[in-house]
Parts: sequence; structure tokens; C-alpha cells
Amino acid sequence: MLIEKLVQKPDTVTYEELVYLLEKDDYTEKLFEAADEVRKRYVGDEVHLRGIIEFSNYCRRHCLYCGIRSENKNIDRYRMTKEEIIERAKRITERGIKTIVLQSGEDPYYTAEMIADIVKSIKKMNVAVTLSLGEREEKDYELWKESGADRYLMRHETASEKLYNFLHPDSSFEMRVKHLKTLKKLGYETGAGCMVGLPGQGPKELALDLIFLRELDADMVGIGPFIPHQDTPLGKEKAGDLKMCLKMIALTRLLIPDSNIPATTAMGSIHPNGRELALKVGANVIMPNLTPAKYKPLYQLYPNKICVFESDMRCIPCMKKMITNLNRKVGTGFGSRKRTDVIHFEKV
Ligand code: SAH
Repeated sequence: MLIEKLVQKPDTVTYEELVYLLEKDDYTEKLFEAADEVRKRYVGDEVHLRGIIEFSNYCRRHCLYCGIRSENKNIDRYRMTKEEIIERAKRITERGIKTIVLQSGEDPYYTAEMIADIVKSIKKMNVAVTLSLGEREEKDYELWKESGADRYLMRHETASEKLYNFLHPDSSFEMRVKHLKTLKKLGYETGAGCMVGLPGQGPKELALDLIFLRELDADMVGIGPFIPHQDTPLGKEKAGDLKMCLKMIALTRLLIPDSNIPATTAMGSIHPNGRELALKVGANVIMPNLTPAKYKPLYQLYPNKICVFESDMRCIPCMKKMITNLNRKVGTGFGSRKRTDVIHFEKV
């Protein structure tokens, strides 16, 4: 019954029902099957590759969970130059990758104009450009959109306001939501998402994340386990649980059937088949890490991140193989969200 409701009328599923599904396991198998079917029906068998370049690990923020937080003096910091970033994007697009994702810590060294120039150069390569640079001023987002940027990733991290404010001493949930709404207003395909298994976050808090994502009508949703980093205040906490992450991915697929959902690197970092499992319960995107080999190990948001010692472009053939092994197809287009006739709420 509950699973049928999720498939047929996802907008009517209640907070209490979501808490139940996250707490209990009596419907989990059915949930996973339903999510896989809905994924196939709405976004098909293609898995889209998004080539990510982590171009700077400098960060001005103090997020309690994150290994590149500004207080961490135990890492070497790096910044790629404009030329290096563009050159790297060129090499990636020459391999047929159709989306370039630029990600970094919150690094004001890169002015809005510098990022705009980089976006313009990459757009000439006939690819989609996704930015994931954290919170900036509205006029910066606007300039980058005008320069051709298509998408923006900004996870909401957790929709429990209390937990959010605890984890981000220099910011607030209210502010995060404001940024996400601005990005949507400016016409970005907007990505939100959360970590799973944060200290103090159980089924009740995770259900808030699902409700939040549905109300925001997120175009993309990144979900992955929290993984404690030794050089952060949360270093001694427990990591997120694989099954709970899979349930969150499956529920997201059912609540926003046409969204783009990545099988995240963090999923692959807590379990050898974490990403494959995610692709089987609703995910339809994967993000090969194509940061230059010399910088890769330094972008350490959490420890034991997979593939950081892979040479250069190795992640591309490896992921293509993963996709075909699952009887899925490697995406050939941009893989933008295709709006369907599902009624989406716009309440946030
Ligand atoms: N500065 C950008 C990019 C952040 S890094 C921004 O603010 O959006 C990308 C994501 O890594 C974060 O949104 C967070 O969800 C995730 N992350 C950071 N530290 C983590 C950890 N210890 N375990 C798991 N995921 C983590």
C-alpha cells in the first residue's frame, strides 16, 4: 500500500510515513524494486557521466564535518590556475564527457570574473557546466548564469535546522535555503542533497530531508554517508550506514521521479559496491573524479576517498565498465533534467 502510494501519488506521502519507511525494514526490498522501476520509467537506462574537477581545497568555512575546513592546518592547500582548469576541461571533453563539474572549497581568491571567464571557455567545448563553489553573492550567480553555467550543486546537508546550525557555526539553515531558492530563481538546474548518518541524525531528521527535497523540487540530489575525518571536531563519530543511504536514494527517486541522482563517491568509499548498489535503487548519474593526479589526494573532505591514487583519466573507462556491467547504457547527451507531467510542489 505504502509503496504503491509512493509510486502513484508521491506528493501525498506524509512525513510520518517516511519516518516509518526509514525506521523499519518490512518494505525495504519492495522500496528498492519500486525505485529501480520508477528510475527506468522516468529517466531510462542511461547513466550520465559528470567529469568533476576539484580545483581548489582552500576554504573559508568551518563546517564541523569537513576535512578541508579552514581550521585544518594538517593539509597542503592547492589552487589550480585558470589556464590549468581550462586545459583540464579540454582534455576531459576530448574524451566525450558531456558535463564538466567545477568544485572547490569556498575560496574567494577566485573572483566572479575569473569564474565567468573559465565558464565561457569551457562552454565553447559544447558541454554542460555545473558549478559547486559554495555560497556566493547573488550577482555572482547571475554573472555565471549569463556566462553559460547550466547547473549549480549546493547540498542542503541536513534539513534539521538545529543540526544544520550546529554543524555550520558560521552560517544558518535559513541562509542555505535562501541561496538554493536564488539559484532556482536564476534558472539554474539546482542540486541539493544531504549526508546520512550525521551525529544526532536519525529517521526523523532524514525524513525532513526528503520532505525538503520534494518541496524544493530539486533537479539533482546528491546523497552520501557522513564519513568522519580525523582532523575535524567530528573525528570520533560513527560513519553513515550503507542501507540507510540506499533507502534515502530510493525514496528520493520516488518523491522526485525525474530528478538526476548521482551514485556518489562517498557511497563507493564506505562499501566496495556502494555506487553500483546506488545505481540499482534509483541513481542515474556518476561523477568520475578527473582532478589532476597531483591534487586529487589533497581534496580530502573525508578519509579513504576512493580513486585518489588512480592515474589521470582512469576513472572514465572504469565507470563505463561499471555501467555496462549493470546492463545500463553510458549517457551520450547532456543528461539535463527532463521535466515530466508529474505535479511538483513549489512551497519552500
Ligand atoms: N564548498 C562547496 C562544496 C562542498 S564539498 C559547497 O559548500 O557546496 C561537497 C560535499 O561534500 C559537501 O556538500 C558535503 O555534503 C560533502 N562532505 C563534506 N565533508 C564530508 C564528510 N566528512 N563526509 C561525507 N561527506 C562530506
